Amino acid sequence: MNPIFAGLGTTIFEEMSALARAHGAINLGQGFPETEGPEDIRRAAAEALLAGPNQYPPMMGVPALRGAVADHYRRHQALDFTAEDVLVTSGATEALAAAIFALVSPGDEVLLIQPMYDAYLPLVLRAGGVPRYLTLRPPGWRLEADAVARAFAGRPKLVIFNNPLNPAARVFDAEEVALLADACRSHGTIAICDEVWEHVLFDDRTHRPLIAEPGMADRAVKIGSAGKIFSMTGWKVGFVFAAPALLGPIARAHQFLTFTTLPALQAAVAYGLAKPDAYFREMRAGYARSRDHLADRLRSAGYHPLESEGTYFLCVDLARSGVAIPYRAFCLRAVREAGVAAIPVSSFYADAAASGIIRLCFAKPDPVLDDAVDRLGRLLG
Ligand code: PMP
Ligand code: GLN
Repeated sequence: MNPIFAGLGTTIFEEMSALARAHGAINLGQGFPETEGPEDIRRAAAEALLAGPNQYPPMMGVPALRGAVADHYRRHQALDFTAEDVLVTSGATEALAAAIFALVSPGDEVLLIQPMYDAYLPLVLRAGGVPRYLTLRPPGWRLEADAVARAFAGRPKLVIFNNPLNPAARVFDAEEVALLADACRSHGTIAICDEVWEHVLFDDRTHRPLIAEPGMADRAVKIGSAGKIFSMTGWKVGFVFAAPALLGPIARAHQFLTFTTLPALQAAVAYGLAKPDAYFREMRAGYARSRDHLADRLRSAGYHPLESEGTYFLCVDLARSGVAIPYRAFCLRAVREAGVAAIPVSSFYADAAASGIIRLCFAKPDPVLDDAVDRLGRLLG
């Protein structure tokens, strides 16, 4: 077995979901909504599946979807790209793999901003990259100028930038995005921008794509996911948006990973991306309501939740909640004894930083959240 994968266990998401199933626990660990997703989009997929075609679509993606992605980002983020700049992938995970395998050569330094999504490090290592870290700390998780300057001192070939940031639920502001763009420009660094949470923002925040910063159009790769945009995480339809000099190599890697993605889902996502603004507004408002509900209930139960600016997640500071046992042990007790699955945020750090923070997914109906907090409350007591 390849030593990189031999050295890794099962992902924390699968581990916690399996424990949740085994113990009949409420699963606030792995991030997925409890709903089935918009019925009109699912109907469009069902109709496309019956009507066909069901044979291999073009390797770059179905033309209607590539066009819809370009239109969508022009409408929502004022990005001036065309269908030719879009590659359709089997989820953002495949897009990340294709981008990392295409752009990282053995020995290249890759800057990872931690907490980081769990797929980044194994993919970078498998590509032969040498990871470097920029560590963000709770409760603010801010990108600070001196930390960015230190992290870029080695002139990394690549940086992976997840905005909004899972699990910290941070939406980086204009100042932070400009800081990172400046560092990329002055060090000749390419940015892989994981923006799967771009539509899940709260309190009137704006998503600022790094690719839109001055001088970044040719040095940024933007990755999105229909799974997050339409609350259907199982769909695994992703897209990459980049200038030809970057998109070409990524497409070469993609052709040997999956080559293509289920055409009916591509057709349905093309339909969905054109949905009116009201859909996006209501989706955000619904999650913001659930976030507030969970935060209020947690506070009443004696827990100390952190801010959540976007994503499906709310972090809880266990130390400030008066929890004395180690946070991984707490997560195991929570799932086995209290019947609530959560994710230890240490899983998103390479060096198991003892952050004492757990992540809860609030994309659930109120009664489920209430039941979960009642159970977690008993653990504190
Ligand atoms: N990146 C981040 C930051 C994520 O949170 C996720 C999934 N939640 C992904 C990538 C993977 O997206 P997909 O399911 O489209 O592969
Ligand atoms: N992205 C999801 C999360 O952060 C999990 C994805 C997965 O299970 N691989 O919870």
